[in-house]
Amino acid sequence: EESLVIMDEQAIRRALIRIAHEIVERNKGIENCIIVGIRTRGIYLARRIAEKISEIESKAVDYGELDVTAYRDDRETNATKSNQQVNNSNSLPVQEKKVILVDDVLYTGRTIRAAMDAIMHMGRPENIQLAVLVDRGHRELPIRPDFVGKNVPTSKQEEIHAALSEIDNEDKVTIIHN
Ligand code: 5GP
Ligand code: MG
Repeated sequence: EESLVIMDEQAIRRALIRIAHEIVERNKGIENCIIVGIRTRGIYLARRIAEKISEIESKAVDYGELDVTAYRDDRETNATKSNQQVNNSNSLPVQEKKVILVDDVLYTGRTIRAAMDAIMHMGRPENIQLAVLVDRGHRELPIRPDFVGKNVPTSKQEEIHAALSEIDNEDKVTIIHN
């Protein structure tokens, strides 16, 4: 097993600042937007992006969290389980809103499909956008991110380790060759 750092603390910080600016630019402000983090690490990234947007626009941005129990959990490969459950403990105000989903790693796209399903059950958003820290490729669904921290071509045997200071005591993205 061999690992390589592909984003350090500065690179992650810069990528999130850029994404915050891109979100504001794309949406011509943040009116009617809600930033939705996908558990677990997407939540911390979404909070950081929402905080940056608030600084840029000098006003608070709506924020919510979604708990998608992925068939493929972080650092775990289990392609056999195909069902995902979404615990929408509290429904988010998505009606006529621009919903910006945030996750750490985009892989097959199945987690995002489940998240979009959950959002659509909460109401009719004006649109749904996607921001991810890392796009590692290998999509199995027609899903693409609108905002990307870093595109990282991977083999299916490799995995991305996304460490975030809120829970991992450091900000660091590593690629692991098994
Ligand atoms: P997907 O549903 O697109 O196959 O996988 C995305 C979800 O699984 C994300 O929520 C992400 O946290 C997790 N995930 C998938 N592959 C990886 C990976 O290589 N590294 C990490 N850290 N998470 C992954
Ligand atoms: Mg996840």
